[in-house]
Amino acid sequence: MTSPTQKAPQPFRSLSPAVMRASTVVFDSLAEFTRRKERQPDGYSYGITGTPTARQLEHRIAELEGGAHCVVTPSGQSALMTTVMSFVRGGDHLLVSAACYGALKTFARNWLAHFNVEVELYSPAIGAGIEKCIKANTRMICLESPGTVTMEMPDIPAIVEAAKRHGVMTMMDNTWGSPLAFKPLEHGVDFSIEAATKFFGGHSDLLVGCISMNDAAYYAAVRETQSILGQQTSPDDCFLVMRGLETLKVRFAAQSAATLQIASELEHHPEVSKVLFPALQSDPGYAIWKRDFSSSGCLFSLILQPAPEAAFNAFFDALQHFAIGASWGGVHSLAAYYPAPLQAERAFPLTDQPIVRLSIGLEDPAMLLADLNAALDAFKRTRAAAA
Ligand SMILES: *Cc1c(COP(=O)(O)O)cnc(C)c1O
Repeated sequence: MTSPTQKAPQPFRSLSPAVMRASTVVFDSLAEFTRRKERQPDGYSYGITGTPTARQLEHRIAELEGGAHCVVTPSGQSALMTTVMSFVRGGDHLLVSAACYGALKTFARNWLAHFNVEVELYSPAIGAGIEKCIKANTRMICLESPGTVTMEMPDIPAIVEAAKRHGVMTMMDNTWGSPLAFKPLEHGVDFSIEAATKFFGGHSDLLVGCISMNDAAYYAAVRETQSILGQQTSPDDCFLVMRGLETLKVRFAAQSAATLQIASELEHHPEVSKVLFPALQSDPGYAIWKRDFSSSGCLFSLILQPAPEAAFNAFFDALQHFAIGASWGGVHSLAAYYPAPLQAERAFPLTDQPIVRLSIGLEDPAMLLADLNAALDAFKRTRAAAA
């Protein structure tokens, strides 16, 4: 074994970031060890708050978001929960968009509500009307734009304006557009959250989340919550996200262009009842998207013609180039299915029909379109046979 007091070797200069692993951080003296907690929120005291690998990733993400600080977490889901858990306490009122990521709503209703947090879902179309929902004990408003799966475009500036007037914190899940399309912090949102699992990583091989913010006191609170809840993000995963970030702009541009092309084509397909994609002029969210966003990413949804489940099985079975799976934002195209009851039972439902969600990767768009057309043919045949 090497002696624990042995100094680290001279740093080796690589073009790529170093993966620094640690449970234990060692100190030069007892005095330093005793004061180790004073190193938070930025410094290193134990592996749980991250090593220089995590800090390097956090700096890169903060820069992308146009923010002062960032905390990485082990998943997008944990980033959402950590943000809420940092500030919301029993007796507080929490407003959550009905179109927010499902796990956040489940966490709010099945956990926070039992800790005496008053949880209220609001319509994603609420806009300035959010003011009527704000109470004396409202602590935070959770936003997502566009809505998960259903793609409604909330009026973020209007909601933020009302929140600020009443001293209510806002957090936004910005995963759909990434900071390349929209920078929540520049629009006055207090916390910008990304599932780095999606575009940042970009290769469907990791789970990481991040919380970006400007306020130094908020940063200290989020870092402490991340640490106390034991949410360490593997340095190896941090490294992979940094590698993903190197190609983010080109992947995002290519995938956004292909997605817009494919979504525009599908809009005219007779088996497609509605394309849910705010970058299309026909979408009810287009005006808000156009005003606030500079790009539109790789994710959109479809409502097909009403049909029995068998027709949806035929659609998915026919796909040759889309893998069937949850998640999105990687270089491989994916298709996912959200059944009708899930839609109908949602608060402020958008539809009572099933939703097909597509994530467009880096494959040839013409090939993907041909694949979707063949799947829609299979859908049509099965639908006609059942009619
Ligand atoms: C995937 C996703 C999450 C959760 O991210 P994980 O890293 O998979 O936990 C949160 N919000 C949105 C909008 C997502 O698409």
